[in-house]
Amino acid sequence: MNEVNASIITIGDELLIGQTIDTNSAFIAQELNKIGVWVRRRVAIADDRQAILDTLAAEAAQSQIIIITGGLGPTADDITKPTLCDYFHTRLVVDDGALQNVTTIFQRLGRSLTERNAKQAEVPESCIVLPNRRGTAPGMWFEKDSIVYASLPGVPHEMKGLIIDSVIPKIKETFTLPAVVHRTLLTAGQGESGIADRLVDFEAALPPFIKLAYLPAFGMVRLRLTGRGSDENIITKKVEECFTTLKTLVEEWMVADEDSTLPEAVSQLFKTEQKTLATAESCTGGYIAHLITSVPGSSAIYKGSIVSYANEVKKTVLDVKEETLSEYGAVSEQTVLQMATAACTLLQTDYAVATSGIMGPDGGTAEKPVGTVWIAVANWAGSARAQKFHFRFDRMRNTELTANAALMLLRNFVLENRNA
Ligand code: ATP
Repeated sequence: MNEVNASIITIGDELLIGQTIDTNSAFIAQELNKIGVWVRRRVAIADDRQAILDTLAAEAAQSQIIIITGGLGPTADDITKPTLCDYFHTRLVVDDGALQNVTTIFQRLGRSLTERNAKQAEVPESCIVLPNRRGTAPGMWFEKDSIVYASLPGVPHEMKGLIIDSVIPKIKETFTLPAVVHRTLLTAGQGESGIADRLVDFEAALPPFIKLAYLPAFGMVRLRLTGRGSDENIITKKVEECFTTLKTLVEEWMVADEDSTLPEAVSQLFKTEQKTLATAESCTGGYIAHLITSVPGSSAIYKGSIVSYANEVKKTVLDVKEETLSEYGAVSEQTVLQMATAACTLLQTDYAVATSGIMGPDGGTAEKPVGTVWIAVANWAGSARAQKFHFRFDRMRNTELTANAALMLLRNFVLENRNA
């Protein structure tokens, strides 16, 4: 089966100067990948007529699908539509459906429709209009010389709606695409190369239509198997077989056998075990609480956090003794153990996790350099454990790594104690 190639062109000066991060093309690439379209190029260009024309011509020489975002708004620098008219040798006309949409949106907002806003309803005559349920600028679909083009607004949530509602279904209708099957698992506690060493024989024995990808991030590695081919049943069966083998090979590091995050995996574990959690955070300043509460349904397992950034709060709220702080310091085994135990008692939870560390750039000493972190876990039954870490990055990464280490420590502690 021949590969169907796509190019994604994002338009906007703000993308080139780094003022806006191009998240649109990442989203579009993921959605195309899911349906078996190969994204061969993603390119960001200026709001510039010639740049748009040159890029369209260059991509059309190689791709059957071209998706463009940005430059459709009512402002003077939005030149995509007139340029598309030049490219497709057509002219702008008012689309009744799009005009109705803009009018309704303005009525709902209680604002009068200006001429500039009404221009949003103008589209190149040769396009098929893709209705935008989330905004005023419609999407546009063109076909020329066996190549399809979709031009979408740059506003990310409008673009996403159009991709899901219109563009992906139309691509599926237009092209014969291979079946694509993904299976992903999440590991923690082992680096990419350590995992790769374990998987040398497994990878070599994979059939040619199944690929293994390593996707590392912050102390974790996602392993993804992707099968592509014409027969979905055969691909699914073979991917499942290989996935079962993969799970066995990395069992000791596996946190979840699906495409989830560490906070999701920890939340799920607490739900399954019907346990509750509290956090006492110094150096992470509530970040662990944020990660846990970002998971939908976390109210079933999570009670709250005490952000004890200052020593007074450690003493007055978490009952860390003055002597502990003066003798061992805020970043110490004794302090975090006391913090975790107190959080469990104060918030009446089955488990608690506590952090205290020096995230940098300042505050390090010879004895406790920047990146020194103590993390403790405790449970209602009175067991507790603390571990010291040395992270060596900047403040943001140290915080991220501390939160991950805390969640891993917590997860392992719950697993060890679940039958106790
Ligand atoms: P508008 O009607 O708002 O003018 P538009 O289609 O002209 O829509 P742009 O003007 O290019 O789109 O961008 C609108 C908003 O979307 C801006 O806030 C811009 O920063 C953001 N945006 C544009 N392109 C991208 C992109 N590739 N990734 C993420 N955000 C983007």
